[in-house]
Amino acid sequence: MRRFVVAANWKMNKGPNEARSFLNEFLSQVKLPEGREVYIFPPAIDSAVVSEMLAVAGSGDRAKSSVKWGGQNIYPEKTGAFTGENSPQTLREMGASSILVGHSERRTLFGESDEFTAKKCKVIHELGMQPMLCVGESLKEREAGKTHEVIVRQLTKGLELLDQAAKVMIAYEPVWAIGTGRVATPEIAQEAHDVLRKSLITIGGESWANQVPILYGGSVNQDNAAQIAKGDDIDGFLVGGASLNVTSFLNICNV
Ligand code: PEP
Repeated sequence: MRRFVVAANWKMNKGPNEARSFLNEFLSQVKLPEGREVYIFPPAIDSAVVSEMLAVAGSGDRAKSSVKWGGQNIYPEKTGAFTGENSPQTLREMGASSILVGHSERRTLFGESDEFTAKKCKVIHELGMQPMLCVGESLKEREAGKTHEVIVRQLTKGLELLDQAAKVMIAYEPVWAIGTGRVATPEIAQEAHDVLRKSLITIGGESWANQVPILYGGSVNQDNAAQIAKGDDIDGFLVGGASLNVTSFLNICNV
């Protein structure tokens, strides 16, 4: 059985104090069944707070140890002269388990290419963390009938420097659905996830592909999550706006 993963992308929101109060409340209420994992992707500046709180909560508590955290961004070198960037090695030392890669905001606002994304996946994997590779088409690409071509290219190129059978997570995030309130229908989401699953089979074989969680992201909230989760290949969610509020994020974690 595949893991079901619910991830919070806080983007450039919440400082250390807000992160602490969110986690205090969240950790006091979260109850995760076996096989379900939660990832918090805070701004890098909150990493110490998040890391410490999750380490304390997770020691000796199976459910809470399924709440992990990761980085929103890294530079694809372990350390070095890259002023202002986040070192993946340092995030690993601090206890990060995963790093977001290829988010549409990185691709469109910061011009990150498939090649750069692939380099990030490689260094993240070498350090023992899991890349969460985001793929998704723009509205223009969808309307031009290019959705499958775009997401398969982003997936294939993003993973191309990894060893076979590397541990990864994928997030399908149609750009037109991110932060817009315009969620994909369950059918649209399942269709894209099916295409991605088939590509994963081509890349690394059936048994590996069937272990890789494919999350849906784009305007997920506590009211639409359960319906989308019904798709066979929907293995969780990457949540932006609705992850900033404890109650709505808990409700999504519990779908
Ligand atoms: C995201 O940025 O990854 C995202 C899915 O945002 P939202 O849920 O706000 O659409």
